Amino acid sequence: MKRTDELTVGRRSITISNPDKVLYPATHFTKAQVIDYYIRIAPFILPHLRGRPVTLKRFPNGIGGEFFYEKDAPHFTPEWIRTVSVPRRDRSRADIRYVLIEDLPTLVWLANLANLEIHPFLHKTRHLDRPTSIVFDFDPGHGADILDCARAAFHVRGLLAELGLRCFAKVSGSKGLQVYVPLNTTGALYPATQGFAKAVAELMQERHPDLVVSKMSKAIRGDKVFIDWSQNSDFKTTVGVYSLRAKLAQPFVSMPVEWDELQQAMDSRKAGPLYFKPDEAIERVKRLGDLFKPVLSVHQKLPDQLLSAARAPSSLTEYRRKRDFRKTKEPAPSQVRRSRQGSARRFVIQKHAASHLHYDFRLEIDETLKSWAVPKGLPYKQSEKRLAMPTEDHPLEYLDFEGVIPKGQYGGGTVMVWDIGTYELMEGDYDRGYLHFYLSGRKLKGEWQLIRGRQQGNRRRWFLGKITTSMRPISKKKENESALSGRTMDEIRSAGMRAA
Ligand code: MN
Repeated sequence: MKRTDELTVGRRSITISNPDKVLYPATHFTKAQVIDYYIRIAPFILPHLRGRPVTLKRFPNGIGGEFFYEKDAPHFTPEWIRTVSVPRRDRSRADIRYVLIEDLPTLVWLANLANLEIHPFLHKTRHLDRPTSIVFDFDPGHGADILDCARAAFHVRGLLAELGLRCFAKVSGSKGLQVYVPLNTTGALYPATQGFAKAVAELMQERHPDLVVSKMSKAIRGDKVFIDWSQNSDFKTTVGVYSLRAKLAQPFVSMPVEWDELQQAMDSRKAGPLYFKPDEAIERVKRLGDLFKPVLSVHQKLPDQLLSAARAPSSLTEYRRKRDFRKTKEPAPSQVRRSRQGSARRFVIQKHAASHLHYDFRLEIDETLKSWAVPKGLPYKQSEKRLAMPTEDHPLEYLDFEGVIPKGQYGGGTVMVWDIGTYELMEGDYDRGYLHFYLSGRKLKGEWQLIRGRQQGNRRRWFLGKITTSMRPISKKKENESALSGRTMDEIRSAGMRAA
């Protein structure tokens, strides 16, 4: 039984489709109730969204169904919705058109699309490389909970206080919480804020090894709290304050909390008071106002000496160690940092006739190319999975390397740029062993995912799977030629022989 309603919101009339649809089955929470929540929270949530691009997270069939992240405004977005175009790094592709939530009608229109969660960027449209705050995301392992996150958050707060920095906490509405350090100044850009957050997380792990981990790939989270510093990036978003969440069976709100409340919850060992249902959230903001207001107004600067110390270490040591750059034409890593406008990162698939023919799949992540050897190449058929063995990080310069690695050198043999293009990370995180991405290559287009499997000896296999839909296999001719030069493996090899 479907019905549609017309809702007048300010000067707009918005068609609400299927308002009785249950989006949270456990509590029978309907789309109409979601819309009602966003209308009532609007005066509090809108100031935190204005001027910021957002990533949409839509659940058309409720929280049990499939969801998707959308950066680009849907093609049916009405003209009156404000959007902002952000150039991708790959200038040959169209800009990303992000939705801006500037007013109540936009908020209602999005709620009608079952956009349950709202994920704003840390920057505003005027300065895409300048975050207005730093965020620490406290993410508990299986054996930990929000109270452990609170303990870790107090440690971070103590350190920040030593540096003269104020910070503000909100519960995530899921299992963890986030701490924001407002900046609202012209100084720090993302590399500095991320470097700072990483340094803080690492220091916390050093000081509180029983409680905190700062890196997922090397440590088992278990009963510890992962301080995710990587959200401080121009292509990542964190769930916004006052957003509903779709992580648990019930709708909970990502709600600002006072440090006293966190302390009380820790003292009484009760996590319950840190979860807020929509009605409780509304009642609370009426009583307490917007506890997150200072995140928009407090001006703070990161200490200068910390900025220079906060440089990410190179992960290319192994790449360098394995190669003699006097003998191979493969690129030596350089120090140059590239600009990171927009959200598209690059990828390459190199067909590599070494001792065994395989495909090297590389994704640009954190200044390097994370790499996997995929013996059979990427699958086309939906839900087909293939083995992907992780290999050492490669420098960004490797993206367009095509040629012959001399015999006797590491990986000796012919390398073809089989496909190259950009990708968008839709969900996941390398350190957590899960990446869901959309590839826009010259040959491959669509969604795949990489999942890290269990430890096997001293190595961990990953699995590369095709998801969402199948892709039509490419032609034999295309299959056999370079995406960069059109050459076959034989042509690349003989050209390499002549050059040597
Ligand atoms: Mn290889």
